Amino acid sequence: MDILKLEATQVETLTVQAKDLKYLAVERSPIQGLGLFTYNQLAAYQIIFTINGRKVYRPYDPAYSHLNPNWLGIGYEEWLEMSSGDLSLYINHSCSPNLMVNKHFELITLRPINKGEELLIDYSTTELDPYWSMKCYCGQPNCRKLLLSFQYLSIQLQKKYSKFIAPAFSLFAGVPK
Ligand SMILES: [Zn+2]
Repeated sequence: MDILKLEATQVETLTVQAKDLKYLAVERSPIQGLGLFTYNQLAAYQIIFTINGRKVYRPYDPAYSHLNPNWLGIGYEEWLEMSSGDLSLYINHSCSPNLMVNKHFELITLRPINKGEELLIDYSTTELDPYWSMKCYCGQPNCRKLLLSFQYLSIQLQKKYSKFIAPAFSLFAGVPK
């Protein structure tokens, strides 16, 4: 592929995103560091934007998984590396998320979201790496404390999320461990 052409396309996409998504703001989050907030009321099952990035393939490796690269798992040993400046890079995790990433890499709301709320995804819905884990301090009553990949979620949670996950993830939904 022509690299210059690819870069030009990415720049163009990011410009459109910034213009159309002025109601989204990156601000300090009570959960951790910076987070992404909405200043529009959002309806349930509303698509907010498509994540920009390139597909990356890498064998699962316990040494590497602990480095916790800022990628979205989209399949077996397959990730989406977000373009620099993509707003999705600022989305924090919550064990009670209000967003998911669907199979078209679009962010979709799971419920109505009020003005001023932080946009949050469950990071276990974007990872299949068997070695990945992350401590959670989201503070929700149903906080799992230690996050593991999608296949280690309870069957109830897998089924709840299965409507929006990528095909590779749905292989695990509802399968007893
Ligand atoms: Zn949590």
